[in-house]
Amino acid sequence: MAESLTLPCCFAIPSVTVAPVMTAPLVSLSASLKLPELKGSNITVSVPTLALRSATSSSRLIHRVGRLVCESQGTALEYGSSRQSYKWHRVLLKVSGEALAGDNTQNIDPKVTMSIAREVASVTQLGIEVAIVVGGGNIFRGASWAGCSGLDRSSADYIGMLATVMNAIFLQATMESIGIPTRVQTAFRMSEVAEPYIRRRAIRHLEKGRVVIFAAGTGNPFFTTDTAAALRCAEINAEVLLKATNVDGVYDDNPQRNQNARLLDTLSYQDVTSRELTVMDMTAVTLCQENNIPVVVFNLAKPGNISRAIRGERVGTVIGGKCDSAAVRG
Ligand code: UDP
Repeated sequence: MAESLTLPCCFAIPSVTVAPVMTAPLVSLSASLKLPELKGSNITVSVPTLALRSATSSSRLIHRVGRLVCESQGTALEYGSSRQSYKWHRVLLKVSGEALAGDNTQNIDPKVTMSIAREVASVTQLGIEVAIVVGGGNIFRGASWAGCSGLDRSSADYIGMLATVMNAIFLQATMESIGIPTRVQTAFRMSEVAEPYIRRRAIRHLEKGRVVIFAAGTGNPFFTTDTAAALRCAEINAEVLLKATNVDGVYDDNPQRNQNARLLDTLSYQDVTSRELTVMDMTAVTLCQENNIPVVVFNLAKPGNISRAIRGERVGTVIGGKCDSAAVRG
């Protein structure tokens, strides 16, 4: 059966079906194109930046990148990418360990990992590239344990980093159980269980439509996975850091102590540092500020929030980006 792909059209024709002869990896494509105006014409389709890939063994095609330009007998038609209609093309999702625990008394709630996997699946199918940094606070936090029975901070932090690897492998297994190709890359070598972090390889995975989970934080003690998220975000040129938490966003006061605390819509990096808001550690905020990376803080527990945030819809609190100062949600 011929492969087929329906692309949205920028012009008058609502959609076009392409029956391509597929080569892998697909960088160019010959297709016979059936258009109302050009019926019967043999058209060569040049696909300068379009990558079509076989998402599954059943060869479902996903229109992933760029523009499709069709030229025939002096007629040029341009088809917008489905991907171009979304705000972000490559995102970095930070999932804290605490969020993975959900309401469960265990360290990890499989319902939470499955809901993350499902929502991520729904956006990778749109062609949005997703990298994830997982925390480890549901299992071990170095700072809380340092000092116990002579445990020094560095050793405690290495245990904390190992905890993030456990979460990453759990999340990878969950993702793969529903057919999302996923790679884990660790900041220090554990080559029997995961790839080492190699920036170019991570980017290649993303371009191929795989989800990449970065584990073991930065690989250095005295840092956090928020900082690892900011760092990896800058390194892989992700356009936004999406911080999934257990709260709806950033409040002007602690909502657990102050019932009148208001959820902030937007904030500048300066607001976060000068008001000492505990949304992220300062190293992470500074790294985002220096690299102009907007941060979206949102509630992972609300169904649909992850995919909404990844698609660039309004959710939670936006830090940085184009906002200059704090705005309260009305
Ligand atoms: N950690 C570290 N260096 C890093 C990232 C994490 O030492 O670059 C350790 C640290 O001990 C931390 C633990 O790993 O407490 C778990 O990470 P984090 O507390 O950031 O997880 P989260 O709060 O997101 O669940």
